[in-house]
Amino acid sequence: MTTRLKLFNTESRSLEEVIPLNGNTVRIYTCGPTVYNFAHIGNFRTYIFEDVLCRTIKFFGMEVRQVMNLTDIDDKTLHGAIEKGISLEAFTKPYKEAFFQDIAALGIEKAETYPEATAFIPSMMQLIEELLSKGIAYQGADGSIYFAISRFPSYGRLSHLQLDELKTGASQRMADEYDKENAADFVLWKAYDPVRDGNIFWESPFGPGRPGWHIECSAMAMSILGESIDIHAGGIDNMFPHHENEIAQSEACSGHHFVRIWVHSEHLLVDHKKMSKSLGNFYTLRDLFNRGYSGRQVRFMLLSTHYRTQLNFTFQGMQAAGASLERLDDFIDRLGRIKDGASQGKAAPCLDIAYTQFRAALGDDLNISLALAALFDLVRSINVLIDQKQISAAEAEQTLEFLKTIDQVLGVLFFGKEQEDISIECQELLQRREDARMHKEWQLADECRDLLQSRGYFIEDTPSGARLKKIKK
Ligand SMILES: [Zn+2]
Repeated sequence: MTTRLKLFNTESRSLEEVIPLNGNTVRIYTCGPTVYNFAHIGNFRTYIFEDVLCRTIKFFGMEVRQVMNLTDIDDKTLHGAIEKGISLEAFTKPYKEAFFQDIAALGIEKAETYPEATAFIPSMMQLIEELLSKGIAYQGADGSIYFAISRFPSYGRLSHLQLDELKTGASQRMADEYDKENAADFVLWKAYDPVRDGNIFWESPFGPGRPGWHIECSAMAMSILGESIDIHAGGIDNMFPHHENEIAQSEACSGHHFVRIWVHSEHLLVDHKKMSKSLGNFYTLRDLFNRGYSGRQVRFMLLSTHYRTQLNFTFQGMQAAGASLERLDDFIDRLGRIKDGASQGKAAPCLDIAYTQFRAALGDDLNISLALAALFDLVRSINVLIDQKQISAAEAEQTLEFLKTIDQVLGVLFFGKEQEDISIECQELLQRREDARMHKEWQLADECRDLLQSRGYFIEDTPSGARLKKIKK
């Protein structure tokens, strides 16, 4: 084993090798969606990066235990439920379901556990009691419980902020906030406010209320994965304050180092601008499906930029992703048609080089651009061999095997044989969806798509028509 997997650790600002703390299993915590709305493509950039990360760890011979939480308690979910006059559970349920449909359509492998904040409130209370008993948390004038950042000396070490800067920065922002000892302290338990919270609250030893968002992740991460975990991933906008606060809460309670490697994905821009509803450049996955793009195309577009580089989403980029996938489909198709021919011994060296380069690129902090370059170099050289009839059926088969191996990481390739195993019912559903789209019956088309997803398929729209692809488990 020559190449190793290294990741850029946000905390140390350096490349560090992934070596599991226990046995051969890498334990990963990833901050999941707040289920008050459909997730947008910026969220999916992060989830796809995390999917590629987990797949890469497996590619390097380790096991993965990934936890992704669903934030069903926060200001936005409460507000949504109260506004609609329904329970929190009823309000969040459709968005939880939509999230799972979306990740399936994007070929994201499922995490081992998806804990919901509402199911972990006792562990959150336990952590808060521990912090109170240690004198690190206190009850503010409004009855809420706060974390005193001045009592956790290494606060700021992830985001590399100085405590003094934080204090001044925060006190300027929140000059009128007198409930806390220090303006930069953050809330662990929000005291119940009948006007703001309707009838949604939980009883606790420190009065009725609800947990703060940060404590939710500490409680779920430590309850499921233990006090020290291998990797914590998320979008860069969660690095501060969310992840900084997770470290403070978790380590102040446990006394152990919370996370070995922190990894953060950069922002997604749309046409070089921040995505926002007011600019009209805000897209959910469903918006892109309605424009005729497939989940596979979105996945390829979102994964093909290195995770620590800002990704500029454009429709030209989507077209380019489609063209790249078509090239790969054609290549696979061509390989499948080779039934004879004599080997000149030229394919094996190409495959060896491609494998070595692909693996080395991923091992170097998931350098996806170089990994994809290795793949397309291979496509070019093998296509030349096919043109010159210098490749045998066995070599074509080896090339297909190679593609299947690297697709364990990419999750975008299409191996035609799958079509043969699809049930008549699913083929009919696909046909009904096509008819519905032709007649602009979007709701019916979406229903067919959802049914197909529940049967384990996502739809891929190609220039030669739609086809079904198995959702990878
Ligand atoms: Zn989180």
